[in-house]
Amino acid sequence: MAKPKELHRFYKSKAWQLARTIKINATQGKCERCGGVGEEVHHQIRLTLSNLGDTSISLDQKNLELLCRDCHNQEHGRFKKKEVLFDDDGNFMG
Ligand SMILES: [Zn+2]
Ligand SMILES: [Zn+2]
Repeated sequence: MAKPKELHRFYKSKAWQLARTIKINATQGKCERCGGVGEEVHHQIRLTLSNLGDTSISLDQKNLELLCRDCHNQEHGRFKKKEVLFDDDGNFMG
């Protein structure tokens, strides 16, 4: 599934950059789950094209969570491609 343009545009918007900066400052740049280096701001209620315009979801600090890459990948079920490979059931494949 291609990434919708509107989502892409949102992530480039000043409003998002600001919300992201506030989040990073509030958490002192630390992953809110493991205390590692927070790199990505996650939406607890997933951002979709239908709720993108709802700032209580897209921009509200309460819906944002600063995560390190590992915790973020885990949250979304995305796995590191380089060092470790997992199949769709989460089984280690080498
Ligand atoms: Zn983490
Ligand atoms: Zn996320």
